[in-house]
Amino acid sequence: MSKFTEEKVDEANLCPGKSRAFGAKMWDEPHPIGRYRHKRCWSCGADLGCTRCSGLLRELLCMGHGSDRNELKHGGLGPVWATVAALVEHGPLRGFNQTVDSYPPAFASMYRATELTGGTR
Ligand SMILES: [Zn+2]
Ligand SMILES: [Zn+2]
Repeated sequence: MSKFTEEKVDEANLCPGKSRAFGAKMWDEPHPIGRYRHKRCWSCGADLGCTRCSGLLRELLCMGHGSDRNELKHGGLGPVWATVAALVEHGPLRGFNQTVDSYPPAFASMYRATELTGGTR
C-alpha cells in the first residue's frame, strides 16, 4: 500500500505503524487500525500497534527498542509478553530466565488463576 493513498482516513483511526511487537508488519506505514488497537508494553512502553500489523493479543511479544537495548528496556528480561493474554497463553519465557514473578502482579495472579483451573493449554 502506498503512503500517499487517496483514500481519506480518519487520523484517529490510524495505527502509526511503529509496533515493536515481534513479527510486526507494516513498519513505518500508517494504516487503518485493525480489529483492536493494542495497549503499550507494560514494561518499556513501546507501541505495539494493532491486530492488523502485530497480530493477536495473546501473541504479543515485545522486542523493546531494538535488540541491543532490549535487555535494558525490559530490566534484563529480554523480550517480554506484552499482554496478560499472551502470558497466560504461553507462560514466562524460559530461555530468558523469566518467571511469572518477572511480570506485573496483576499478570502473575491471572496466570496462576488459569493454571489452577487447568488453563488454556
Ligand atoms: Zn516492551
Ligand atoms: Zn497496526
